[in-house]
Formats: sequence, C-alpha cells, structure tokens
Amino acid sequence: MNDAMDERVIPDRRSIDPTRPNWMEIDLRALDHNFGVIRAMVGPDVRIIPCVKSAAFGHGLVELSQRLVELGARTIFCGSCADAGMLRRAGLDRPDLVIFGSTLPAGIPALLRLGLIPTVHQLELAEAVSSAATGPTRVYVKVDSGRGRLGLPIRTAEDTILSIARMPNIVIEGLYTHLPFADAEGAAFARERTRRFGDLVGRLRARGLDIPVTQARSSSGILYGIEDGCNAVAPGSLLFGKTSLPLAMADVSGLRPVLSAVRTRIIHLSADAADRTPGTALRYADLVTGPTGVVPFGRADGHPVAAPGRSAFALVKGVKAPVLSVSSEQAVLDLSDVPYPAVGDEVTILGADGGLAITLADLAGWQGSSMNDVLLMMRGRTPLLFIER
Ligand SMILES: *Cc1c(COP(=O)(O)O)cnc(C)c1O
Repeated sequence: MNDAMDERVIPDRRSIDPTRPNWMEIDLRALDHNFGVIRAMVGPDVRIIPCVKSAAFGHGLVELSQRLVELGARTIFCGSCADAGMLRRAGLDRPDLVIFGSTLPAGIPALLRLGLIPTVHQLELAEAVSSAATGPTRVYVKVDSGRGRLGLPIRTAEDTILSIARMPNIVIEGLYTHLPFADAEGAAFARERTRRFGDLVGRLRARGLDIPVTQARSSSGILYGIEDGCNAVAPGSLLFGKTSLPLAMADVSGLRPVLSAVRTRIIHLSADAADRTPGTALRYADLVTGPTGVVPFGRADGHPVAAPGRSAFALVKGVKAPVLSVSSEQAVLDLSDVPYPAVGDEVTILGADGGLAITLADLAGWQGSSMNDVLLMMRGRTPLLFIER
C-alpha cells in the first residue's frame, strides 16, 4: 500500500539513510486517538470528512488517508487534483475524494476523468461539469460566508444553487462553507455566519432541494462547540493534533500530535569552534564555551533561522543544545552542556528526548510563524517513519 513516489516512507529505524540521517516520526495511533476525540465531540450521527489538504501537511498523505478510511471516513477533502490522484494510484478507490477549489473551468474534464468530485464555487464551474459530464455527476457546492474566499456569495447563493441543481447531469451531493477563526471576534463572526448558512440550507429544503451532506464546521468550530444543524464536519488541524485557537479559548490537551518527532544525527563535531569564527554573523566565541556540532537539517529541510530576538534549541541526550546558525543544508548546535557528544548522536528538532520536549508550538514561536507554516516547510524532503505508540 506504499506509493513512495512522493513520500519517502522508511520501514524502521535501521533504514534511516546514513547519507542524510533525518527522519520524521508519524504516530498513527495519535491519529486514531484524535479521530476518536473528534467523534466524541460531534456525536455519533455527524459524518466526519477529514481534510488532508497540502499533502496532509507533510504527514504522509497516502498512509494517513488509508488510516482515516479504516477509521470509517467515507469521504475525504483533498487540496488538489494531484494529491487526490496520488491517493487513487495508491489504491484508495473506496472513499469519495472531494477537491477543494484549485481548478479553472477548463480543468473540470480532467478532474472528472479521475473520478474526483469537484467543488463548485462559481457558476462557471457548474456549467463546465454539466457540459463535460456524460451521466449524473456529483458535485459539492461551496458558499463563501463573507471572507472573500472561494464560494458562492451567501447573499445570492439560494437562487444560484437552485439553478445549478437544474443543470443537466448535475447532482449536488454536498453544500459547505469554511469559517476558521483564531480569536473571540472570529468566533462571534463564525457563529453568526454558521446560523446564516443553516438558514440557507433550510430555505433550499423548503424550495424542494434537500442536499444530502451539509457542513460548516472545521477544527476551530468543532473545538469551540459552535452549534449548527449540519450533518457533517471537516476537520483538518484537529486530526493532526493542533489548533490555531489560543489556550484560553480551547483545551487541546486531549489531542496528541501525529507528527511526534523530527530527528537527525550529529555528522560533525568541532571541539574548538569558538576559536574560528571571525566574520560570520554569529560570533560563536561570544556564545560558546564548549564543542559545537553540525546536523544535516538545514533551511532546505524546512529549518529556518530563528526570528529576530528569538533563539531556538534542539535536544541531544536529553539536554538543550542551542541552535547557533542554520545554513541551507546544515545547522550548527552548541553542545557545551551535552555530555560526551559524538558523531552519530541523535538530535531532536521536534519531540521528546529524556524529560524535555520541543513542541510544534515552540518551533512556531521560535520561527515567528504558525504551526501550519512550520509543517509546510518541513514537508517533502525528510523521510517518514510510521510508528504506533
Ligand atoms: C483547511 C480547510 C478545512 C479544515 O480546516 P481546519 O481548520 O484545519 O480544520 C476545512 N474546509 C476547508 C474549505 C478548508 O480549506
């Protein structure tokens, strides 16, 4: 079931590539756990449509999607045709794959040929489906709830949707909107717009159009407990064990990170690095009393330098090792506090080592970015090691 085209999946720790000993540990049990937490939050009767956009944020698109199907997902939201195509080629032919927006009307025939379900977020896409289809063809319609993003404007959506429903060969299977938020003001907005979305569903029903799948909540709405009359939810972040909501608004202690670790190894030691650093931005001599070490986890691996005024560390033998500099292919660590460091020692960029741990939120804080950005940058180059903890 491995389609290793895009994802470098390694079977065990012995298979870590010594020519670039970096790896990410993906905990599939954490995914099971988070799916169960979401199930408990939304109740037994609401359909969970997992969102695996951006190649599942680098968590291993094929393996995660396969697991989500085993957990009961019958429909999956994909960010792109390419991602969905990869799932099909990997043998995932059971779940319905709905594509969020990405395509021009001219892309619709290709998308239908792959058996994917398009999102209609403007009328032209519905017309393209209707003319390309050779028989009844399912679509999801997206309504924009007022953020200027993809979707039919909610004010005029009712009539537009009814006209789409009358087009030859079009079967509207789903109706959805997306209302993510990260603060109290956003939550109030989402609550009000969710209510308007519910009204729209009700009015369509009253006019004879009963759409089987309705969905307005993603991670923030589920976590914050926004009420809607919809029969589906579309979580992304929560599945991976993260949220953009501040702690004061949501308790995520019940979730577990699916990306449980990012690790590398020391490939080089300098006992006297403090002697030899004139002319570099970082004058190690001012900072470092002991040895430094190099790991092959640089900016090209998704390891940016810390934001101005912030500093980052990695963990070696359960001890903090400050990150002194990051170049395109490597990073230099201060190993002053690490007992007897050696080439080959394991280095933890993210995750636990001994009694200490570095979280995704820590990395986002050090880098001055978001958890999603940290994940997106690390995607693609580093091999994945699936674990079941
Ligand atoms: C990303 C996305 C989701 C999932 O969002 P999370 O906040 O990660 O749960 C759901 N619906 C749409 C349209 C999205 O783009």
